[in-house]
Amino acid sequence: MKFVGAHVSASGGVENAPLNAMKIGAKAFALFTKNQRQWVAKPLTEASIEAFKANLASSGILPKHVLPHDSYLINLGHPEADKLEKSRTSFIEELKRCEQLGLDKLNFHPGSHLVKIPKRDPQYEEKLIEAELHCLDVIAESMNLAIEATQDSNVKLVIENTAGQGSNLGYRFEHLAHIIDKIEDKSRVGVCLDTCHTFTAGYDLRTREAYEETMDAFGRIVGFEYLSGMHINDSKPKLGSRVDRHHSLGEGEIGWDAFRFIMNDPRMDDIPLILETIDESIWDREIEALYALIKS
Ligand SMILES: [Zn+2]
Ligand SMILES: [Zn+2]
Repeated sequence: MKFVGAHVSASGGVENAPLNAMKIGAKAFALFTKNQRQWVAKPLTEASIEAFKANLASSGILPKHVLPHDSYLINLGHPEADKLEKSRTSFIEELKRCEQLGLDKLNFHPGSHLVKIPKRDPQYEEKLIEAELHCLDVIAESMNLAIEATQDSNVKLVIENTAGQGSNLGYRFEHLAHIIDKIEDKSRVGVCLDTCHTFTAGYDLRTREAYEETMDAFGRIVGFEYLSGMHINDSKPKLGSRVDRHHSLGEGEIGWDAFRFIMNDPRMDDIPLILETIDESIWDREIEALYALIKS
C-alpha cells in the first residue's frame, strides 16, 4: 500500500498539521515541529502535544507515516566549532520534539562543507574531495552524538539526498553510504529520497530503464532497508544541473512516468511519500492523480 501526502502547514500549532493533511485527502504528511527559520522555539506544551495526538488519531494517519523535517538553519557538518555546536544542540532538541509527539522519524539534509576553493587552484579536485569527505565524517559524528543524547528514543535520523547545490553534501548515493557506515547504531538511521534532488543530482528517472538503473544503484550502494520516506517532486532544472527547484507533478523535467514507476514499486510500500511541490492549492488533486497511477 502507498501512503501519499504533502508537507503541510503547522502554523498556529503542530496540532493543526493532521487537520491540514485531512483536508487534502492525505494518508501521510510532513511538518516542521517548530519555525524552520528560527533557532529557538518554545517547548511544545502538554496541550499542544495531546491535541496533536488526538487530531492524528482522528485523521486515521499512522505516526509512522508522518515525516517531520528539521530546521533549514541546522548544518551538522558546519566547519566552525560554535556553529556546529549550535546545530547539534538544535538537532537534538528537534529529535526530542518528535519523540514528544509520538513520531519515529526526523528528516534532515546532511550538511554543507562551506569551503571555498578557487577553481583556478591546480589542486581544486583533490581539495574539494578532501573537504567533502571531512564534512561527511563530521555529519556522522553529529549523528552519533545525537543518537547517544536520545538513547531511550526510537526516532530515526532520516538523511535526505540533495541536489548538490553549493556545497551541500548528500548528492551522491556514496555520500549517504559513507555516513551510514560510520553510524554506530544503524537501527536509528534512515534515508529519504527526493525525486527532484535525485534527478538534478544526475540520476535519471524518466524511462523504465533509467528508473531501474537509478534504483538499482541506490539498492546496491545504500540499501532499500534504509528507505524511510520519499519526497515526490517534479523538477524545474534539468538532469544533473545540481540546482534545487521543485515543480508541480508533470509540469517539470521529470514528468509523470517516473511517478507511475514509484506508485507501482513495492519497495515504496508503507513509507511516507510526501509532496513538496510548489502549488499547494492543487495538492489534493496531485495526491489523487498519484493514486490513479496504481495499476490494479
Ligand atoms: Zn525534499
Ligand atoms: Zn528540494
